[in-house]
Parts: sequence; structure tokens; C-alpha cells
Amino acid sequence: MKDCFKIEKIVADIYLVTEPYFRGHANLFLLTGLPFDLLVDAGLGLCDLKKFLTSRGFRPKVVITHGHFDHIGGLSHFTDEDVLVSPLTAANIVEKRLWGLNFLKPEYFDSQHTREVIGKSPPEVCADFAIRLPKMTPSEISEISIGERLLRIISLPGHTDDSIVLHDEKNRMLVTGDMLYDGGIYADFPNSDKTAFKRSLNHLRTLDFEYVLPGHNEILSRAQAMRVIDRWHSWLC
Ligand SMILES: [Zn+2]
Ligand SMILES: [Zn+2]
Repeated sequence: MKDCFKIEKIVADIYLVTEPYFRGHANLFLLTGLPFDLLVDAGLGLCDLKKFLTSRGFRPKVVITHGHFDHIGGLSHFTDEDVLVSPLTAANIVEKRLWGLNFLKPEYFDSQHTREVIGKSPPEVCADFAIRLPKMTPSEISEISIGERLLRIISLPGHTDDSIVLHDEKNRMLVTGDMLYDGGIYADFPNSDKTAFKRSLNHLRTLDFEYVLPGHNEILSRAQAMRVIDRWHSWLC
């Protein structure tokens, strides 16, 4: 029986959790700390992510980078006290038309792996996909402290209106969600804004960081991130 999640240690206090049966999977980063561990994004939610993490000794709270299905689905398995969410994201999450479901396609799943871990075929998974949201109390979070790390939340709209990045200035690290990753740019959702996206990319350039933990694909050095910013900027023009 294959596992629903894969977890790998990136550095001493950062883990990457993925759902490898979905080829378009998001990167879920778990930053360990005190008094809780911070999970950035929640994945598809087809298996119980909270149980997976707590059974390994983690104490996760979840912060959501934006309200797309591949980042919010796993909220189903968390409770209100576990979730840190802005008022805008909380409002978007309850609007199914903003989940980006046109990118939930059977061909993005590994058929055999999906059957093994979910017990359904990819078309069945897509047809049955639902997100059961916990009752959520949104808050105007501007920073999150987990002991050694202080993460400042920066609103950078474009991909969606509620997109945020988390900046750990001391450790010169950025967690970007879909605001930046090495891959194709998506700026055609009902709540996308290309002009805002360009502004947000320019803002990213001004931040002090050494590396990026992105919402999809590989971790980026600053130089690699700058190349993606240039490429995306030119695609938006
Ligand atoms: Zn997205
Ligand atoms: Zn995504």
C-alpha cells in the first residue's frame, strides 16, 4: 500500500509534504517551531493530513497562501483553532467558483497510485471532489511567530486577489505559494489581476531573501527566483 503523502526534510526545521499521486501537486511546507508547527497550505484533502502529521509528532496549524483547491482541500481535516486565514481568503474559500477547479483533471493523477491510496479512479476523484471547510474565524494576521522564526505576511495579489507570501527576514527565506514558482504563469482566474501581478512581482524583487519555498516545483535560489520573475513579468506584458 503506497502512502497518500510523502514527507522529506529540507533543513533541520523545514519539511516538504506532497501528494505524489497528483502530478500537479502543491508543495506544502511544514516549519517546525513553538508553540506549534506551521504548515503552509493544506493540499487536496483526499486523505487526512492532520492525522498524518500528528501521528508523526507534529502539532500543525495551517496558514493558507490563497484559495485554490490544491492548497485548501486539506482544511477539511483541521478545526477552526488550527487555521490561520485572512478575511479575504476566508471569503474566497467559501466560493467554489474561485477554487480553480478547471485544473482538477483526471489526467493530472497517477491512475494506479490514486486507486491505491484513495480507492477511486481519477475521474471518480474529480467528480466527487468536495472541500468540507471547518468553521473559520478569519483574522488580520500580519506576522506569525513560531519561536526561532518570525514570518511576516505580505499580500501580493495577481495570481488571485488573496495571494500572500511569508517572509522570514532573519533567515532570508520566502514562502511564495503560487505567487512565484518555476513553471507556467496562471493569471486568468476570475479573481486574477495582471496589473496587480506585475506590481507584486516588482515588490518581490525588493525583498531580501536567499531562497524561495514555492507553491509548486523546485525550491529556488535568489538568482533562479529572479529569472522566473523576469520571465513572468515579460509574459504579463
Ligand atoms: Zn493557485
Ligand atoms: Zn497551486
